[in-house]
Amino acid sequence: MATLESSETVTIIGGGLVGSLLAIFLARRGFRVDVYERRPDMRTQSVSAGRSINMAMSRRGIHALEQVGVIDEIMPLAIPMRGRMIHPVSGELKLQPYGKNEREVIHSVSRAELNKTLLSAADRYEGVRLCFEEKCVAMDVRSGEVTMQNGQGENWSFISDRVLASDGSGSAVRAAMQDAGRFNFSQEFLDHGYKELTIPPASDGSFSIEPNALHIWPRGQYMLIALPNPDGSFTCTLFFPFEGTDSFDGLSDKDQVAAFFERQFPDAMTLMPNLSDMFFDNPTGTLVTVKCFPWHYQSRVLLMGDAAHAIVPFFGQGMNCGFEDCTVLDDCIGQYWPDWERVFQSFGYRRKDNADAIADMALTNYIEMRDRVSDAKFMLQSSVGLALEMRFPQFFIPKYSMVSFHRVPYSEALQRGKIQEEILQALCGPITSVEDVDWNLAEQLVKDRLGKYQES
Ligand SMILES: Cc1cc2nc3c(=O)[nH]c(=O)nc-3n(C[C@H](O)[C@H](O)[C@H](O)COP(=O)(O)OP(=O)(O)OC[C@H]3O[C@@H](n4cnc5c(N)ncnc54)[C@H](O)[C@@H]3O)c2cc1C
Repeated sequence: MATLESSETVTIIGGGLVGSLLAIFLARRGFRVDVYERRPDMRTQSVSAGRSINMAMSRRGIHALEQVGVIDEIMPLAIPMRGRMIHPVSGELKLQPYGKNEREVIHSVSRAELNKTLLSAADRYEGVRLCFEEKCVAMDVRSGEVTMQNGQGENWSFISDRVLASDGSGSAVRAAMQDAGRFNFSQEFLDHGYKELTIPPASDGSFSIEPNALHIWPRGQYMLIALPNPDGSFTCTLFFPFEGTDSFDGLSDKDQVAAFFERQFPDAMTLMPNLSDMFFDNPTGTLVTVKCFPWHYQSRVLLMGDAAHAIVPFFGQGMNCGFEDCTVLDDCIGQYWPDWERVFQSFGYRRKDNADAIADMALTNYIEMRDRVSDAKFMLQSSVGLALEMRFPQFFIPKYSMVSFHRVPYSEALQRGKIQEEILQALCGPITSVEDVDWNLAEQLVKDRLGKYQES
């Protein structure tokens, strides 16, 4: 990576996961970077957990952290998850491996610890200035005038030639771009929201369920999931309809919550002594997909991360995708800087189809997680998919693996995934076990239909 001869200052709005990593990428290039974050400094003041306490981190995210040399600080904070542990209402738990070997795992990592580590890593660069309790309240994208509100509630302004906006799904900068006109925008809320709950550590401080798994309680129209934390606890998330019989609206008192959990999640309930209190104390979050374009305004403003493409969390990719944004932008800077407009334009062209693809895959994956994972046909197809990858690794990589363990562009993963699904349906239709797969037919289908994607 070449350091650029630049004394230019780049403004980042939003010092969350993407903003703090972006600051490091830019500082490494030699830019001066000012980061404005509306919250207090989470390294010195405790802030409310906000959305999702822990996240699944996978290949794309890890690659970006490797690029800036912070991965060794992050990995000790992470817990590997080898597969989905499926909890039926009654009966045995079943672990469905995510990958073809023990290296193909995803990692549970605390959002706050990750963010703090990235802020500290950014802070180590002389050219980076981190400004907390500074909220962007308006921007004139034509003149570059940014209006901030400080911790005392006072407004002040500055002019910036380069604003990179990583201010999340409700981005203020994106709203300003809408005002400037000819900006395509859509947002779609799910009819389902989410609620975080906690399984505390066992009395001896150990994990009360398997730590190296992502636990899922699939229940058709809704689901509960749990990811491990290093202190022995699990962060659970209930994804649940807002309205209807079994819904947030339908559970209006503690007795109803207890009765519902006893009926649907009996094993999880015994592990959550404060269930009903948590249920009513913790906020209910909304889930939204945001699509918009163009992501830039001339050479002045660029949207990144959730500000450009917020997605629902069912593929565990929002952050990973935002981190991949940083690597792609860095690449575009290497190619086209100092022509910022070209940098921004090429970034948008390289990322837009991919962001749309992972947005769509994330929506589909909700149905897979809450419903299909406990289905015998789904389990057979997953096992056959991994077996096909073992036999024909240049041709067949299961969709989950392409997204989580490879850096195959998301749009290609979506297309290949559709073809692979058809192959799996053809092979699994007449059988009930991996041993019964017609391998001659498999070879023919895989080579005929996936030949164009052959990996060398
Ligand atoms: C329930 C849930 C579970 C998830 N699980 C996963 C997962 O397992 N794996 C995964 O990869 N992704 C996951 N995600 C998605 C992930 O959280 C987001 O994609 C990621 O946080 C996006 O990072 P960001 O920096 O773009 O936005 P954010 O993390 O939202 O950060 C935006 C930052 O900007 C600041 N800000 C906002 N407005 C302003 C303003 N006006 N002025 C100044 N600062 C501002 C905010 O305070 C914040 O610090 C999950 C999301 C949810 C909701």
